[in-house]
Amino acid sequence: MNIRIGNGYDIHRLVLGRPLILGGVRLEHELGLLGHSDADVLTHAIMDALLGALSLGDIGHFFPPTDPQWTGADSIELLKQVHSLIIDRGWQIANLDTVVVAERPKLKPHIIAMRHRLAAALQLLPEQVGVKATTNEQLDATGREEGICAYAVVLLTKED
Ligand code: MG
Repeated sequence: MNIRIGNGYDIHRLVLGRPLILGGVRLEHELGLLGHSDADVLTHAIMDALLGALSLGDIGHFFPPTDPQWTGADSIELLKQVHSLIIDRGWQIANLDTVVVAERPKLKPHIIAMRHRLAAALQLLPEQVGVKATTNEQLDATGREEGICAYAVVLLTKED
């Protein structure tokens, strides 16, 4: 059994006039995340963890922010493309675990929906997809609600 681990991190700025989408789930909030795509910071961290596990680079390499075809892109669709890269190489996701750091809104009511949405995109069971939420105790940029960041770790396996 071959095993690979990958980790990913992302942060996006919170601004007025943008939707707030985390883990493919749209949340009601007066601020949203700024970015070239839909700026789904959680899904981006997961994509970087998947790519990192196989040393394939990062999402900026596959979906450059300078490329107009990714303007407003649905990050769940990008995640499915990254998943294909993993599967095509004979690897499977054992599990992934994530942390979203957001002062507001309260993420707890949406965690199960995010886990199900991400699991469906990756053809996993929700039990294989961990999503945890925390605040930054009003410290630093995320604590001042200037942005939301996310961390992800993924474990890949491959039969010999
Ligand atoms: Mg990003």
